[in-house]
Amino acid sequence: MTILRTVCPSCDVVRVRAEDTTLRQYDAGAALEVEFQCPGCASRVVQQLNARMMPLLVSAGCVVESTVPGDVEGAISEAEIRAFVGELDRADWLDELAY
Ligand SMILES: [Zn+2]
Repeated sequence: MTILRTVCPSCDVVRVRAEDTTLRQYDAGAALEVEFQCPGCASRVVQQLNARMMPLLVSAGCVVESTVPGDVEGAISEAEIRAFVGELDRADWLDELAY
């Protein structure tokens, strides 16, 4: 279980379980937001995210709710993200980038 440290507009810094957050992707990787229920005030909080955060949050266990149809050209599928995250666990991925 991964605990994410994030910010609620009312409560400031809060901690939520990754499984209790929802990631939404609106187009091919550019627009991304994360939604969670604040453990302090119970309000729904939506934050904009940089697309580069997505693999980290997926690997942490966040629930992905893509609004992008899977067959849209250029869209990143959840399977592709999981494959990418899996590749990062290999010790030699940096060597491949060198060539
Ligand atoms: Zn709050």
